[in-house]
Amino acid sequence: MGYISETELSDLVEQAKDYASEGKVADYIPALKYANKRDLSIAMVSGNDMLAAGAPEQPFTLQSVSKILTFAIVLDDLGFDPVYQKVGVEPSTKSFNTVTESYNHNKPLNPMINAGALAVTNMISGKGTAEKLEKILTLVRRMAGNPAIEVNSSVASSEFETAHVNRALCYLLKSKDIITGDVDELMDLYCRQCAIEVSCQDLARIAYVLANNGVDPDTNEEILPSSVARIVTTTMAMCGMYNASGEFAVNVGVPAKSGVSGAILAVVPGKMGIGIYGPSLDADSISIAGRQLLQQLASRLKLSIFQT
Ligand code: GLU
Repeated sequence: MGYISETELSDLVEQAKDYASEGKVADYIPALKYANKRDLSIAMVSGNDMLAAGAPEQPFTLQSVSKILTFAIVLDDLGFDPVYQKVGVEPSTKSFNTVTESYNHNKPLNPMINAGALAVTNMISGKGTAEKLEKILTLVRRMAGNPAIEVNSSVASSEFETAHVNRALCYLLKSKDIITGDVDELMDLYCRQCAIEVSCQDLARIAYVLANNGVDPDTNEEILPSSVARIVTTTMAMCGMYNASGEFAVNVGVPAKSGVSGAILAVVPGKMGIGIYGPSLDADSISIAGRQLLQQLASRLKLSIFQT
């Protein structure tokens, strides 16, 4: 990567691992509770170069990181205004599955909290769940440059069986006419998008496509219009780390999205894509060691987009 060696990156990973013991693996989705708390890996992509440490090929599920992909799909299909009529782009002050902050002017605050993400998934066009899921998988595979990406069905069904709060959110959204159709069908698609299995290498490549204005670094093909990449990245900066987005902007300073699996995808516009996995979570449901690692890396490489 030029300014950091593989050994230095491995050292940062080893140091950050110590924070894992202070966190907790997500267990409200039963299948996630078997993760190894001390796992910590990172991959960084810039152009055609990749630098990694830990176990960058280890699989984990996207969980909330999938929300940026579904948001990109509906922005690309419908344009910003129709999407914005149903979901805002304002930060929230509560956790990812908040019910009380799901509305601001009668719509979910943003597409990164569950209420907004469910509304976004409901906007994906297609004949049925299979066709809609294929749209999501096609985008993930193209962005990651990995045609082998699939859904982890046991994680998807584990979440589907226990998604009581998300179902409640769906019924609230239905009562406000923000979503239409069958709630269990929507929950099925949402749980499958969250259970898409990737590695840190995949995450970093997805992030790099966003950093590269939606363009594939290998083929120079446009995967997403640059306006969509810009809106997604901006929304990540404002809302991607839930109610910790402000603190994260101050201490790290790059647009990022976390997931309860312990995934963090971070975009350094024009420069780099970063993928991190560390399943031990802090009180904000963000990878505790991953957040530390990203903070150290951002300070070391001066990655903050808020200072040159
Ligand atoms: N599948 C998770 C849920 O809806 C995603 C939440 C997250 O990763 O923050 O509860």
